[in-house]
Amino acid sequence: MVKKPSRQVGMVIDLNKCIGCQTCSMACKRLWTGGDGQQQLWWNKVNTMPGEGSPRGWEDMGGGFDADPSFLGWRVGAGKPGPSRLPEDDEFGTYVQLPAGEEVARSGEGRRTTTPEARPRWMYNWDEDRGAGVHPNAFFFYLPRLCNHCDRPACLEACPRGAIYKREEDGIVLVNEEKCEGYRFCMEACPYKVIYFNPKENVAQKCIGCYPRVEAGVAPACARSCPARARFYGYVDDPESVVYKLRKWGVALPLHPKFGTGPNVFYIPIMSSSRLDEEGRPTGAPRIPLDYLKSLFGDAVEGALNTLREERQKVKNGFNSPLMEMLVGWRWPDDFFAPFVKAPDEAKAPRQKVSGDAAAG
Ligand code: SF4
Ligand code: SF4
Repeated sequence: MVKKPSRQVGMVIDLNKCIGCQTCSMACKRLWTGGDGQQQLWWNKVNTMPGEGSPRGWEDMGGGFDADPSFLGWRVGAGKPGPSRLPEDDEFGTYVQLPAGEEVARSGEGRRTTTPEARPRWMYNWDEDRGAGVHPNAFFFYLPRLCNHCDRPACLEACPRGAIYKREEDGIVLVNEEKCEGYRFCMEACPYKVIYFNPKENVAQKCIGCYPRVEAGVAPACARSCPARARFYGYVDDPESVVYKLRKWGVALPLHPKFGTGPNVFYIPIMSSSRLDEEGRPTGAPRIPLDYLKSLFGDAVEGALNTLREERQKVKNGFNSPLMEMLVGWRWPDDFFAPFVKAPDEAKAPRQKVSGDAAAG
Protein backbone atom coordinates (compact mmCIF):
# COMPACT_ATOMS: atom_id res chain seq x y z
CA MET A 1 0.00 0.00 0.00
CA VAL A 2 1.33 3.42 -0.94
CA LYS A 3 2.26 5.90 1.78
CA LYS A 4 1.15 9.53 1.59
CA PRO A 5 4.15 11.72 0.67
CA SER A 6 5.03 14.77 2.77
CA ARG A 7 4.79 17.06 -0.30
CA GLN A 8 3.13 16.66 -3.69
CA VAL A 9 4.01 18.46 -6.90
CA GLY A 10 1.37 19.03 -9.54
CA MET A 11 0.71 20.64 -12.90
CA VAL A 12 -2.17 22.61 -14.38
CA ILE A 13 -2.57 22.78 -18.17
CA ASP A 14 -4.82 25.45 -19.65
CA LEU A 15 -6.54 23.85 -22.65
CA ASN A 16 -7.62 27.30 -23.85
CA LYS A 17 -3.99 28.22 -24.40
CA CYS A 18 -2.62 24.97 -25.85
CA ILE A 19 -2.00 25.31 -29.60
CA GLY A 20 -0.99 21.69 -30.18
CA CYS A 21 2.52 22.61 -31.29
CA GLN A 22 4.10 19.54 -29.60
CA THR A 23 7.05 21.58 -28.33
CA CYS A 24 6.46 19.94 -24.94
CA SER A 25 6.54 16.48 -26.55
CA MET A 26 9.81 17.21 -28.31
CA ALA A 27 11.40 18.81 -25.24
CA CYS A 28 10.65 15.64 -23.27
CA LYS A 29 11.74 13.35 -26.10
CA ARG A 30 15.07 15.08 -26.58
CA LEU A 31 15.76 15.20 -22.89
CA TRP A 32 14.82 11.69 -21.79
CA THR A 33 13.82 9.17 -24.46
CA GLY A 34 16.24 9.42 -27.36
CA GLY A 35 17.84 6.00 -26.80
CA ASP A 36 17.55 2.73 -28.67
CA GLY A 37 14.40 0.86 -27.60
CA GLN A 38 12.70 4.17 -26.83
CA GLN A 39 11.48 5.07 -30.33
CA GLN A 40 7.82 4.57 -29.38
CA LEU A 41 8.12 6.32 -26.00
CA TRP A 42 6.29 9.62 -25.75
CA TRP A 43 6.17 10.37 -22.06
CA ASN A 44 4.50 13.65 -23.00
CA LYS A 45 2.13 13.71 -25.93
CA VAL A 46 -0.61 16.01 -27.18
CA ASN A 47 -3.67 14.29 -28.60
CA THR A 48 -6.51 15.83 -30.58
CA MET A 49 -9.89 15.47 -28.89
CA PRO A 50 -12.34 13.99 -29.61
CA GLY A 51 -10.06 11.28 -30.91
CA GLU A 52 -8.61 7.86 -30.23
CA GLY A 53 -5.23 9.17 -29.12
CA SER A 54 -2.31 6.98 -28.18
CA PRO A 55 -2.32 4.11 -27.56
CA ARG A 56 -5.30 3.90 -29.88
CA GLY A 57 -8.53 3.84 -27.86
CA TRP A 58 -6.74 4.16 -24.50
CA GLU A 59 -9.77 5.63 -22.75
CA ASP A 60 -11.68 2.36 -23.09
CA MET A 61 -8.92 -0.08 -22.09
CA GLY A 62 -9.77 -0.14 -18.38
CA GLY A 63 -7.52 0.03 -15.33
CA GLY A 64 -7.55 2.28 -12.31
CA PHE A 65 -9.90 1.73 -9.39
CA ASP A 66 -13.62 1.43 -9.10
CA ALA A 67 -13.77 4.63 -7.08
CA ASP A 68 -16.31 7.09 -5.82
CA PRO A 69 -16.37 9.61 -8.71
CA SER A 70 -16.52 12.52 -6.27
CA PHE A 71 -13.16 11.52 -4.79
CA LEU A 72 -10.61 14.27 -5.19
CA GLY A 73 -8.42 13.96 -2.11
CA TRP A 74 -6.13 11.48 -0.44
CA ARG A 75 -7.34 7.99 0.45
CA VAL A 76 -5.24 4.99 1.33
CA GLY A 77 -6.00 1.32 0.91
CA ALA A 78 -6.90 1.41 -2.73
CA GLY A 79 -6.77 -2.36 -3.19
CA LYS A 80 -6.06 -4.01 -6.49
CA PRO A 81 -6.67 -2.23 -9.81
CA GLY A 82 -9.78 -3.11 -11.81
CA PRO A 83 -9.96 -5.13 -15.04
CA SER A 84 -7.93 -3.84 -17.92
CA ARG A 85 -5.91 -4.94 -20.89
CA LEU A 86 -2.40 -4.36 -22.17
CA PRO A 87 -2.21 -2.06 -25.20
CA GLU A 88 -0.88 -3.82 -28.32
CA ASP A 89 2.36 -2.58 -29.91
CA ASP A 90 0.57 -1.39 -33.02
CA GLU A 91 -1.91 0.59 -30.92
CA PHE A 92 1.06 2.77 -29.97
CA GLY A 93 2.24 2.85 -33.57
CA THR A 94 4.49 1.02 -35.97
CA TYR A 95 7.99 2.42 -35.95
CA VAL A 96 10.26 1.46 -38.81
CA GLN A 97 13.97 2.09 -38.56
CA LEU A 98 15.16 3.42 -41.92
CA PRO A 99 18.71 4.19 -42.95
CA ALA A 100 19.79 7.74 -42.20
CA GLY A 101 18.74 10.18 -44.90
CA GLU A 102 15.59 8.30 -45.94
CA GLU A 103 12.08 9.43 -45.20
CA VAL A 104 10.65 8.54 -41.82
CA ALA A 105 8.00 5.85 -41.64
CA ARG A 106 5.24 8.37 -41.15
CA SER A 107 5.67 10.14 -44.46
CA GLY A 108 4.25 8.96 -47.77
CA GLU A 109 7.73 8.20 -49.06
CA GLY A 110 8.44 6.19 -45.95
CA ARG A 111 5.31 4.14 -46.39
CA ARG A 112 6.34 3.13 -49.90
CA THR A 113 9.66 1.85 -48.62
CA THR A 114 7.97 -0.66 -46.30
CA THR A 115 6.12 -3.89 -47.09
CA PRO A 116 2.30 -3.74 -46.98
CA GLU A 117 2.34 -5.73 -43.71
CA ALA A 118 4.78 -3.33 -42.11
CA ARG A 119 2.97 -0.18 -43.22
CA PRO A 120 1.95 1.91 -40.25
CA ARG A 121 -1.73 1.71 -39.33
CA TRP A 122 -1.52 3.97 -36.33
CA MET A 123 0.89 6.50 -34.88
CA TYR A 124 0.83 8.66 -31.86
CA ASN A 125 -0.83 11.50 -33.70
CA TRP A 126 -2.53 9.60 -36.52
CA ASP A 127 -5.84 11.38 -35.91
CA GLU A 128 -4.38 14.83 -35.28
CA ASP A 129 -6.80 17.71 -36.02
CA ARG A 130 -9.55 15.30 -37.11
CA GLY A 131 -11.98 16.12 -34.28
CA ALA A 132 -15.74 15.74 -34.58
CA GLY A 133 -18.90 17.48 -35.75
CA VAL A 134 -20.05 18.71 -39.13
CA HIS A 135 -19.34 22.03 -40.83
CA PRO A 136 -20.03 24.75 -39.76
CA ASN A 137 -20.04 23.21 -36.29
CA ALA A 138 -16.98 20.96 -36.48
CA PHE A 139 -14.66 21.20 -33.47
CA PHE A 140 -11.53 19.85 -31.86
CA PHE A 141 -9.07 20.81 -29.17
CA TYR A 142 -5.73 19.61 -27.87
CA LEU A 143 -5.17 17.49 -24.79
CA PRO A 144 -1.57 17.23 -23.53
CA ARG A 145 -1.09 13.95 -21.67
CA LEU A 146 1.56 12.62 -19.32
CA CYS A 147 1.85 10.58 -16.14
CA ASN A 148 -0.33 12.11 -13.43
CA HIS A 149 1.94 11.07 -10.53
CA CYS A 150 -1.26 9.91 -8.88
CA ASP A 151 -2.16 9.91 -5.18
CA ARG A 152 -3.10 6.25 -5.59
CA PRO A 153 -1.04 4.95 -8.50
CA ALA A 154 -2.69 1.88 -10.01
CA CYS A 155 0.66 1.10 -11.65
CA LEU A 156 2.31 0.84 -8.24
CA GLU A 157 -0.41 -1.36 -6.78
CA ALA A 158 -0.18 -3.75 -9.73
CA CYS A 159 3.57 -4.41 -9.67
CA PRO A 160 4.37 -7.77 -8.03
CA ARG A 161 8.08 -6.81 -7.84
CA GLY A 162 7.51 -3.63 -5.83
CA ALA A 163 9.46 -1.81 -8.54
CA ILE A 164 7.25 1.29 -8.60
CA TYR A 165 7.40 3.80 -5.78
CA LYS A 166 6.12 7.25 -4.87
CA ARG A 167 8.74 9.65 -3.57
CA GLU A 168 8.29 10.90 -0.03
CA GLU A 169 9.64 14.39 -0.73
CA ASP A 170 7.51 15.35 -3.76
CA GLY A 171 5.11 12.53 -4.66
CA ILE A 172 6.74 11.83 -8.03
CA VAL A 173 6.08 8.21 -9.12
CA LEU A 174 9.10 6.33 -10.46
CA VAL A 175 10.02 2.87 -11.76
CA ASN A 176 13.07 1.24 -10.21
CA GLU A 177 14.54 -0.40 -13.30
CA GLU A 178 16.82 -2.60 -11.20
CA LYS A 179 13.75 -4.34 -9.77
CA CYS A 180 11.58 -4.29 -12.92
CA GLU A 181 11.30 -7.64 -14.74
CA GLY A 182 9.28 -6.31 -17.66
CA TYR A 183 6.01 -8.05 -16.68
CA ARG A 184 4.00 -4.99 -17.82
CA PHE A 185 1.25 -5.35 -15.21
CA CYS A 186 1.75 -1.62 -14.56
CA MET A 187 1.00 -0.79 -18.20
CA GLU A 188 -2.20 -2.77 -17.92
CA ALA A 189 -3.27 -1.22 -14.60
CA CYS A 190 -2.62 2.44 -15.44
CA PRO A 191 -5.98 3.74 -16.75
CA TYR A 192 -4.21 6.60 -18.58
CA LYS A 193 -1.95 4.11 -20.41
CA VAL A 194 1.10 6.34 -20.04
CA ILE A 195 3.66 3.63 -19.23
CA TYR A 196 5.74 2.21 -22.06
CA PHE A 197 7.79 -0.94 -22.56
CA ASN A 198 11.42 -0.65 -23.61
CA PRO A 199 12.09 -3.93 -25.46
CA LYS A 200 15.80 -3.29 -25.58
CA GLU A 201 16.12 -3.03 -21.80
CA ASN A 202 13.12 -5.27 -20.97
CA VAL A 203 11.78 -2.71 -18.51
CA ALA A 204 8.76 -0.44 -18.11
CA GLN A 205 9.56 3.25 -18.52
CA LYS A 206 7.44 6.31 -17.84
CA CYS A 207 7.56 10.06 -17.20
CA ILE A 208 9.99 10.72 -14.35
CA GLY A 209 8.45 14.10 -13.55
CA CYS A 210 11.82 15.67 -14.54
CA TYR A 211 12.90 14.89 -10.97
CA PRO A 212 16.58 15.85 -11.46
CA ARG A 213 15.39 19.30 -12.54
CA VAL A 214 12.74 19.58 -9.82
CA GLU A 215 15.36 18.73 -7.18
CA ALA A 216 17.41 21.66 -8.49
CA GLY A 217 14.45 24.07 -8.40
CA VAL A 218 13.76 23.91 -12.16
CA ALA A 219 10.27 23.24 -13.57
CA PRO A 220 9.80 20.21 -15.88
CA ALA A 221 10.93 20.64 -19.48
CA CYS A 222 7.39 20.26 -20.91
CA ALA A 223 6.25 23.20 -18.79
CA ARG A 224 9.22 25.52 -19.33
CA SER A 225 9.37 24.91 -23.09
CA CYS A 226 5.68 25.69 -23.76
CA PRO A 227 5.56 28.75 -26.05
CA ALA A 228 1.89 29.33 -25.23
CA ARG A 229 2.61 29.48 -21.49
CA ALA A 230 -0.19 26.94 -21.07
CA ARG A 231 1.37 25.07 -18.16
CA PHE A 232 1.61 25.90 -14.47
CA TYR A 233 3.64 23.92 -11.96
CA GLY A 234 4.07 23.86 -8.18
CA TYR A 235 3.08 22.18 -4.96
CA VAL A 236 -0.60 21.23 -4.82
CA ASP A 237 -0.63 21.85 -1.05
CA ASP A 238 1.18 25.22 -0.98
CA PRO A 239 -1.29 28.15 -0.66
CA GLU A 240 1.24 30.35 -2.47
CA SER A 241 1.41 28.01 -5.48
CA VAL A 242 -0.54 28.85 -8.61
CA VAL A 243 -1.52 25.17 -8.85
CA TYR A 244 -3.10 25.38 -5.39
CA LYS A 245 -4.86 28.65 -6.23
CA LEU A 246 -6.32 27.39 -9.51
CA ARG A 247 -7.56 24.28 -7.72
CA LYS A 248 -9.11 26.50 -5.06
CA TRP A 249 -10.98 28.45 -7.77
CA GLY A 250 -12.46 25.11 -8.86
CA VAL A 251 -11.35 25.54 -12.47
CA ALA A 252 -8.46 23.03 -12.57
CA LEU A 253 -9.87 19.52 -12.95
CA PRO A 254 -8.36 16.04 -13.16
CA LEU A 255 -8.85 14.05 -16.36
CA HIS A 256 -11.23 11.11 -15.93
CA PRO A 257 -11.64 11.38 -12.13
CA LYS A 258 -13.75 8.21 -12.39
CA PHE A 259 -10.53 6.24 -12.88
CA GLY A 260 -10.02 6.70 -9.14
CA THR A 261 -6.25 7.19 -9.01
CA GLY A 262 -6.22 10.79 -7.74
CA PRO A 263 -4.23 12.50 -10.54
CA ASN A 264 -1.93 15.46 -9.86
CA VAL A 265 -2.12 16.85 -13.38
CA PHE A 266 -5.14 19.13 -13.79
CA TYR A 267 -6.76 20.87 -16.74
CA ILE A 268 -8.47 24.21 -17.24
CA PRO A 269 -11.37 22.98 -19.42
CA ILE A 270 -11.73 24.23 -22.96
CA MET A 271 -14.25 27.05 -23.44
CA SER A 272 -16.43 26.53 -26.45
CA SER A 273 -17.43 28.97 -29.16
CA SER A 274 -21.08 29.14 -30.16
CA ARG A 275 -22.85 26.75 -32.51
CA LEU A 276 -23.98 28.37 -35.73
CA ASP A 277 -27.40 27.99 -37.30
CA GLU A 278 -28.01 27.32 -41.01
CA GLU A 279 -27.63 31.01 -41.75
CA GLY A 280 -24.27 31.10 -39.97
CA ARG A 281 -25.63 33.03 -36.98
CA PRO A 282 -24.45 32.17 -33.42
CA THR A 283 -27.12 30.26 -31.49
CA GLY A 284 -25.57 30.67 -28.04
CA ALA A 285 -25.35 26.88 -27.58
CA PRO A 286 -21.80 25.56 -27.03
CA ARG A 287 -20.21 23.95 -30.05
CA ILE A 288 -18.38 21.41 -27.86
CA PRO A 289 -21.15 19.38 -26.18
CA LEU A 290 -21.15 19.74 -22.40
CA ASP A 291 -21.80 16.01 -22.06
CA TYR A 292 -18.58 15.29 -23.93
CA LEU A 293 -16.60 17.51 -21.55
CA LYS A 294 -18.34 15.84 -18.60
CA SER A 295 -17.20 12.47 -19.94
CA LEU A 296 -13.62 13.78 -19.70
CA PHE A 297 -13.62 15.89 -16.54
CA GLY A 298 -16.73 14.78 -14.62
CA ASP A 299 -19.75 16.86 -13.62
CA ALA A 300 -17.52 19.52 -12.02
CA VAL A 301 -16.71 20.83 -15.49
CA GLU A 302 -20.03 22.67 -15.69
CA GLY A 303 -19.25 24.80 -12.63
CA ALA A 304 -15.68 25.36 -13.79
CA LEU A 305 -16.87 26.64 -17.18
CA ASN A 306 -19.45 28.90 -15.51
CA THR A 307 -16.72 30.40 -13.31
CA LEU A 308 -14.42 30.94 -16.29
CA ARG A 309 -17.21 32.62 -18.28
CA GLU A 310 -18.23 34.87 -15.38
CA GLU A 311 -14.66 35.96 -14.71
CA ARG A 312 -14.00 36.60 -18.38
CA GLN A 313 -17.16 38.70 -18.58
CA LYS A 314 -15.94 40.77 -15.61
CA VAL A 315 -12.82 41.69 -17.57
CA LYS A 316 -14.92 42.51 -20.65
CA ASN A 317 -16.97 44.83 -18.45
CA GLY A 318 -13.82 46.64 -17.34
CA PHE A 319 -13.40 45.02 -13.94
CA ASN A 320 -10.43 43.17 -12.54
CA SER A 321 -10.46 39.35 -12.27
CA PRO A 322 -7.71 37.75 -10.17
CA LEU A 323 -8.48 34.43 -11.87
CA MET A 324 -8.03 35.81 -15.39
CA GLU A 325 -4.83 37.60 -14.28
CA MET A 326 -3.52 34.29 -12.97
CA LEU A 327 -4.41 32.40 -16.15
CA VAL A 328 -2.76 35.04 -18.34
CA GLY A 329 0.33 35.21 -16.11
CA TRP A 330 2.37 38.36 -16.47
CA ARG A 331 5.74 37.41 -15.04
CA TRP A 332 7.45 34.31 -16.43
CA PRO A 333 8.60 32.07 -14.83
CA ASP A 334 7.52 33.34 -11.37
CA ASP A 335 3.77 33.45 -12.04
CA PHE A 336 3.88 29.98 -13.56
CA PHE A 337 6.24 27.78 -11.59
CA ALA A 338 7.06 29.25 -8.16
CA PRO A 339 9.06 28.02 -6.33
CA PHE A 340 10.58 26.05 -9.27
CA VAL A 341 11.73 29.15 -11.12
CA LYS A 342 15.44 28.54 -11.73
CA ALA A 343 16.78 28.24 -15.27
CA PRO A 344 18.40 24.86 -16.08
CA ASP A 345 21.81 26.37 -16.78
CA GLU A 346 21.75 28.41 -13.59
CA ALA A 347 20.86 25.31 -11.55
CA LYS A 348 23.12 23.00 -13.60
CA ALA A 349 20.03 20.82 -14.13
CA PRO A 350 19.47 18.54 -17.15
CA ARG A 351 18.57 20.65 -20.13
CA GLN A 352 19.26 18.52 -23.11
CA LYS A 353 20.64 15.02 -23.52
CA VAL A 354 21.14 15.06 -27.26
CA SER A 355 23.58 17.61 -28.64
CA GLY A 356 22.06 19.89 -31.25
CA ASP A 357 20.35 23.19 -31.70
CA ALA A 358 16.91 22.79 -30.09
CA ALA A 359 16.70 23.49 -26.39
CA ALA A 360 14.58 21.41 -24.03
CA GLY A 361 13.35 24.30 -21.90
S1 SF4 B 1 -0.90 8.10 -14.43
FE1 SF4 B 1 -0.64 5.88 -14.59
S2 SF4 B 1 1.59 5.59 -14.59
FE2 SF4 B 1 1.22 7.64 -13.76
S3 SF4 B 1 1.10 7.36 -11.52
FE3 SF4 B 1 -1.01 7.30 -12.32
S4 SF4 B 1 -1.41 5.10 -12.59
FE4 SF4 B 1 0.84 5.33 -12.44
S1 SF4 C 1 4.11 23.14 -25.82
FE1 SF4 C 1 2.33 24.10 -24.80
S2 SF4 C 1 1.05 24.85 -26.51
FE2 SF4 C 1 2.54 23.42 -27.43
S3 SF4 C 1 1.42 21.44 -27.42
FE3 SF4 C 1 2.61 21.50 -25.50
S4 SF4 C 1 1.16 22.33 -23.93
FE4 SF4 C 1 0.30 22.80 -25.99
